Amino acid sequence: MLFTDGRYRIQAGQEVNGARIVIGKKAPAVQAAEWMSGRARSRLNLGIEAEYLTVSTRSALQKALPSRVRIGATAFMVEHLRMIKDAAELARIRKAAQLGSNLFRHVVKAIRPGVTELGVAAELEYQARKEGAEAMSFETIIASGKRSALPHGRATGARIGKGFVVCDFGVILAGYCSDMTRTLHVGEPSRAARSFYRAVLEAQQAALSVVRPGISTGEVDAVARKLLKKSGLAKYFTHSTGHGVGLEIHEAPRVAAGQKEILEPGMVITIEPGAYLPEKWGVRIEDMVAVTERGCEVLTPTSKELITI
Ligand code: ZN
Ligand code: ZN
Repeated sequence: MLFTDGRYRIQAGQEVNGARIVIGKKAPAVQAAEWMSGRARSRLNLGIEAEYLTVSTRSALQKALPSRVRIGATAFMVEHLRMIKDAAELARIRKAAQLGSNLFRHVVKAIRPGVTELGVAAELEYQARKEGAEAMSFETIIASGKRSALPHGRATGARIGKGFVVCDFGVILAGYCSDMTRTLHVGEPSRAARSFYRAVLEAQQAALSVVRPGISTGEVDAVARKLLKKSGLAKYFTHSTGHGVGLEIHEAPRVAAGQKEILEPGMVITIEPGAYLPEKWGVRIEDMVAVTERGCEVLTPTSKELITI
């Protein structure tokens, strides 16, 4: 059954298959709880998706349910089902990633000394909509100069000057997300900046080269980390190597230290090592890849050579 309200009457009729649609006036969770109350004769366990349901909705549910119904938090049940994408999903994800990749040219064009990070994000997002994106898959990251050392530096009013600019963005197309990062340099990069960039690129390529069925995501993460350790940058790599992508921007599996999840054909993950020198600069390079029978298919074809503006 699908519980919803009058605003979704038409849409539910068009989109819901194999479930009865109930249009009510109360919050959907409360409607569902009241429906269950009338039916739960004996003890019952009700599973909720712990990653998504808020604390207040949970207590509203609890209030509307008789005490013989116990609420249990479940995690990663639906998420696990979503890890392996079928052919139709892969086709959509491929298109979303291609659109994202194609939009990168607008970022390159917009980045000039003196323009604001927000100005660059605005141009990218305007073009994204014009080319068919339903939305951005997360808040666009344009982090320039010292701000490039912030792994999640959302675009601000800061003016772009000499130095690295980390550009991390994605679009939603036909419901599916894309995600990619490229780092550019404004002005001639110093030798130190070039070798820093190269170290991150080598780590990214090394991790990409081991993506195949049978390897654990923890092992993929370790490859990127090992390469950055060789360059003395391991301690500046402060996040995980990647994550699954699909209907949501962050999905299972996590590609992080110690993770035991084994890659299988049909999984779509990102490979995005980075290194960040606080108060100085940061570099991240991110591709989206689909795991295939023998290895992987890179979905974001944009060049990773350092672009100088
Ligand atoms: Zn990203
Ligand atoms: Zn990502």
